[in-house]
Amino acid sequence: MTTRLPPPLMDAYEWQSRGACRTAATGLFFDSDAKRGARRARQEEAAKQVCLGCPVLTQCRAHGLACEDYGIWGGLTAKERAVLRSGGVVSNPAHAA
Ligand code: SF4
Repeated sequence: MTTRLPPPLMDAYEWQSRGACRTAATGLFFDSDAKRGARRARQEEAAKQVCLGCPVLTQCRAHGLACEDYGIWGGLTAKERAVLRSGGVVSNPAHAA
């Protein structure tokens, strides 16, 4: 009985191979806590600008909301995902394509 098995991982994560961030610096999306204030906000906005033009923004956002606690996924920061998970509203996400 193979119909109840999960799909192959490559199928489940194939969308990641099409992300606009594939050639971006990892630090743009996964920053240490060393940056704060305006510096951190500029870095997050720069990452969101990459997400705005990403063909897999919707899949990435769903994945990030489901299971990622760090970094920027689908144009949302970790804090923004936490707000959305608890039923709140986010004012400045990258918009879904
Ligand atoms: S939405 Fe952003 S973080 Fe997700 S794959 Fe695209 S560019 Fe990368």
